[in-house]
Amino acid sequence: MLSDNIFLKILEKKIPARILYEDEHCIAFHDNNPQAPVHVLIIPRKVIPTHADIQAEDRELLGHLHWVAAQLAEKLGIGDGYRLVLNCKERAGQTVPHLHLHLLGGRNFAWPPG
Ligand code: AMP
Repeated sequence: MLSDNIFLKILEKKIPARILYEDEHCIAFHDNNPQAPVHVLIIPRKVIPTHADIQAEDRELLGHLHWVAAQLAEKLGIGDGYRLVLNCKERAGQTVPHLHLHLLGGRNFAWPPG
């Protein structure tokens, strides 16, 4: 059930998270299984299960998530290079059905990604 997903529980403060930033549109918190020295998740308050569910009315919100990512990258000292990842659906590795942007930094990244 969508309302059961772990990120909604974090949004509703029902379970703890290391929150770095929050505003009326989104929150950002440290991933609890980091894949890089800096690994932050930025999630909208609005329930959007996957990237494929984005509507025209969400365009500004998506831009906002990216702006927050750039601000946090600078604040966290990874402004010299970072990677943003957005996994869409199970085949791409999405495990939580609430759209989220991964902000990764503090190491070099390979291309192509795995
Ligand atoms: P994805 O695989 O793209 O859906 O990303 C989900 C991410 O959420 C993974 O990197 C998990 O480590 C992370 N995650 C899952 N549960 C929590 C939690 N309670 N607190 C912080 N990060 C979490």
